Amino acid sequence: MNSTLEIQQRNILKDGNEKYLFKTSSGGSFEGTSLFVSELKPSRVFCISTQIGCNVGCIFCASSQTKFIRNLSAEEMLFEVDLMQSFQDYQALFRVAFMGIGEPFNNYDNLIGAMGLLRNRFKDSCRRYSVSTIGVPGAITRFALDTKNYDDVNLRLSLHFVNDKKSNIFMKGTMG
Ligand code: SF4
Repeated sequence: MNSTLEIQQRNILKDGNEKYLFKTSSGGSFEGTSLFVSELKPSRVFCISTQIGCNVGCIFCASSQTKFIRNLSAEEMLFEVDLMQSFQDYQALFRVAFMGIGEPFNNYDNLIGAMGLLRNRFKDSCRRYSVSTIGVPGAITRFALDTKNYDDVNLRLSLHFVNDKKSNIFMKGTMG
């Protein structure tokens, strides 16, 4: 997917967080958030989306209300960080969290591609990459192998429910 991004809307909140609405050159829009978390060092976290819409369908999540359109490309994920970082001091350190719209492991190849592009582009300024997943079967092992040489990558498992019965009730969509 050869698509660039532009910022359709940027809202700066009183607490230091910034909300972005991105528009792709091929159509479709989605959100990203630049978080300010004072307890963290570095305290700026760029929270990026991996898909336009999400087909997992967790009923407690606003993203499940939007129709799944498509996966974001690795380049589009890079652009998200690029655009949010352009409003910060260019020497400031930051983190990247793949926890915006979409299940990252349902767009696995582009996720890994984006991580490679980001680690190359921001090797002096990004201190940590976190991937947040609801737990897609098979993908966690694959991810552990694919990132085994990256000491700046974390995996966060959002374990919403303790058994499959409840997960199937409250998460109605596609995993993997
Ligand atoms: S997988 Fe994540 S983004 Fe998708 S509906 Fe569930 S909580 Fe929302």
